[in-house]
Amino acid sequence: MECDIAIIGAGPAGCSAAIKLAASGLNIVIVDKARFPRDKICGDALSVDVVNQLAMLSKELSCEFKNMAEKTASHGVTIYSPNGKSVSIPFLNNGKAKCGYIVMRQNFDYLLFKEVKKYPNVQIIENKAISETNLEGDKVIIQGDDLLLKSKLVIGADGAYSIVNKHLGKIRVDKKHYSAGLRIYYENLRQFHPNNYIELYFFKDILPGYLWVFPLSNNRANVGIGMLSASISAKRIHLRAKLEELLETHPALKDRFSNARALETIRGFGLPLGSKKRPISGERFLLTGDAAGLIDPFSGEGIANAIRSGRVAAEHATRCFSDQDFSASFNTSYDNEIYSRMWKEFKISRSLQNLCTYSWLFNFLVGKAAQSAYLKKLLTDALAEVNVKKVLTRPGFYIRLLFR
Ligand SMILES: Cc1cc2nc3c(=O)[nH]c(=O)nc-3n(C[C@H](O)[C@H](O)[C@H](O)COP(=O)(O)OP(=O)(O)OC[C@H]3O[C@@H](n4cnc5c(N)ncnc54)[C@H](O)[C@@H]3O)c2cc1C
Repeated sequence: MECDIAIIGAGPAGCSAAIKLAASGLNIVIVDKARFPRDKICGDALSVDVVNQLAMLSKELSCEFKNMAEKTASHGVTIYSPNGKSVSIPFLNNGKAKCGYIVMRQNFDYLLFKEVKKYPNVQIIENKAISETNLEGDKVIIQGDDLLLKSKLVIGADGAYSIVNKHLGKIRVDKKHYSAGLRIYYENLRQFHPNNYIELYFFKDILPGYLWVFPLSNNRANVGIGMLSASISAKRIHLRAKLEELLETHPALKDRFSNARALETIRGFGLPLGSKKRPISGERFLLTGDAAGLIDPFSGEGIANAIRSGRVAAEHATRCFSDQDFSASFNTSYDNEIYSRMWKEFKISRSLQNLCTYSWLFNFLVGKAAQSAYLKKLLTDALAEVNVKKVLTRPGFYIRLLFR
């Protein structure tokens, strides 16, 4: 089988690239090892940025998302500091109420996948795991599960354990820039915030990581824990045991979980973080989403950047064809475009991640915010605006806070 562009992986990054390429007139093949709808281990939290990215991708898709029944609107976040104090912050942008959503990835990814199915020039191949991608002359040869595909360009959208990156790319796991995450769905959980605030719990042992409880409909929740891999090794943390222990003992959780029923066993997956600039393209290939390591290092959010990078990759791929240039040097402009959009935020998040290793600072900030309308507003604005978030990384800010 031959095609112009092969997209490996039909998660948010791959589907976004396919949707954006649908009007290009090029012959596109998208391959996934799973059959859809499929699950993906994730917190299922869709930020305001995800909703905006959908609108930039396709108006129809954005409408379908608005009409989607299986989503829980969340209007804010409650943050618990290591000493157990908490502060609740609404999602606001320029004073206007905003909301994020919790949507099981099984449903969210299927929405994108069904959109891809509408386009005749995109051929979908499910249930085929790619095991090899090799550059041979002017083609990339893609193989796996009795599939042989020759393509002029390949977009690696195959997630955290990307085969495309393994064979063609240069990104290797670096524990200082990589997190591990665990997820488990529960039902029969009580006492969510009336506006479905997401809950983030920070603990001394797992800083700069956190435990989350994200509300779903019918008293169900997505519960999980994420932690920097370098810290897991250094502190010898057994993450699964830690999650179980915290759910059983934390004063704000133990009673709520006493009658809760686990709907699955705890499962884990890797999070390649965007705290390090890496080469994300080369001759005849572009990496997107988790395959390119584009997860926010502080929040662990990766869906918005997966969609954004899929769209940017599609735009660059179209230029490869119009200029008939698939070289590594031509493709570096894709890397530049991605990092010009994301690096500022990644750097700020990396600084926040470093600051969060100090539990006393966290306790101080949350304690102050619980009492100060000024600080609460600043945190609210920081959630929506990257330049305000930057203020939180400055030592002078904390010194001034001491005297407020
Ligand atoms: C525990 C955890 C919690 C998270 N919580 C959040 C959150 O709440 N909000 C948020 O925004 N982000 C969260 N993330 C990050 C988010 O899940 C990812 O950033 C996002 O899924 C990236 O999308 P993607 O399309 O790049 O990759 P994926 O969603 O991983 O999709 C990759 C696709 O490629 C396919 N594939 C993989 N290998 C092959 C192969 N060899 N051959 C063919 N197909 C293949 C897979 O089947 C999959 O469909 C979390 C991650 C983890 C691990």
